[in-house]
Amino acid sequence: MKNVGVVGGGLMGSGIAEVSARAGQDVVVVESSEEAAKAALGRLERSLERAEAKGKVASAAEVLDRIRVVTDLDAVADREVVVEAIVEDEAAKVALFRQLDAVVTDPDAILASNTSSIPIMKLGVVTSRPTQVVGIHFFNPVPVLQLVELVPSLLTSRETTERSRAWVEQGLGKQAIDCQDRAGFVVNALLIPFILSAIRMFESGFASAEDIDRGLVLGAAHPQGPLALADLIGLDTTKAVAESLYEEFKEPLYAAPPLLQRMVDAGLLGRKTGRGFYTYA
Ligand code: NAD
Repeated sequence: MKNVGVVGGGLMGSGIAEVSARAGQDVVVVESSEEAAKAALGRLERSLERAEAKGKVASAAEVLDRIRVVTDLDAVADREVVVEAIVEDEAAKVALFRQLDAVVTDPDAILASNTSSIPIMKLGVVTSRPTQVVGIHFFNPVPVLQLVELVPSLLTSRETTERSRAWVEQGLGKQAIDCQDRAGFVVNALLIPFILSAIRMFESGFASAEDIDRGLVLGAAHPQGPLALADLIGLDTTKAVAESLYEEFKEPLYAAPPLLQRMVDAGLLGRKTGRGFYTYA
């Protein structure tokens, strides 16, 4: 697949567009407004300039030439694969998949979602082609992290999963793992309860944030501790994923601890707001 559509050019969508264009593919990014489209293009330009400065991309301009950022969803009509990366809101995604089904003309096109927690089945069944709807879950930052989780729903065809695997592995140079269509897939289902346990440990006064993180870095060879990682992911996102895991499995280990709820209410969301478990300049 060489013609790629990405809907939503935020943190993840712009990353998916970047890796696709860096792999020589023709990319259309659809944003919801002119302002958001401008922001998406700015994100792409800054990221590609950094990659060029580090020698990872020969010419940022050449890569950018393969990307069009637009506000009209009709621009994805001729795409072979469309990856949805809009906000993590089930109603918004369901509405978008209905529209994509109407707009995308290639009968073999794959309609993928980058959702972290919404069941792929809910998106597949609102289209006339649920066999071609699949989860392709990238990791943040997309240009850096190698992993992609492939998530077929019960109705996704084997052919769709295998074509998606070929696209992410041979097309984009990523590595795929297979997951069932369950909240959290593999990585978040393991990572989120780990982070929540660290928050509970800190909340109870058992150890300081610094010591919890140093413990995991120095004692378990993690690249960063769980509280620093929560600040990086964003405490709002951490809480949202925990809530969808809890909703799905009803297990206490997925329940967001009160401290996490209060920090989100207070706007202490981690790196993006300058303060979470740590303070950032
Ligand atoms: P984000 O808020 O940075 O970006 C979302 C973008 O979608 C925004 O730019 C917004 O303008 C745009 N948008 C919203 N509705 C739209 C519509 N109808 N049409 C076109 N554009 C629209 O969010 P993000 O962090 O990039 O997350 C996007 C998706 O990726 C979510 O489903 C999220 O769960 C998933 N995800 C996020 C991460 C992460 O670490 N942030 C990791 C993996 C997957």
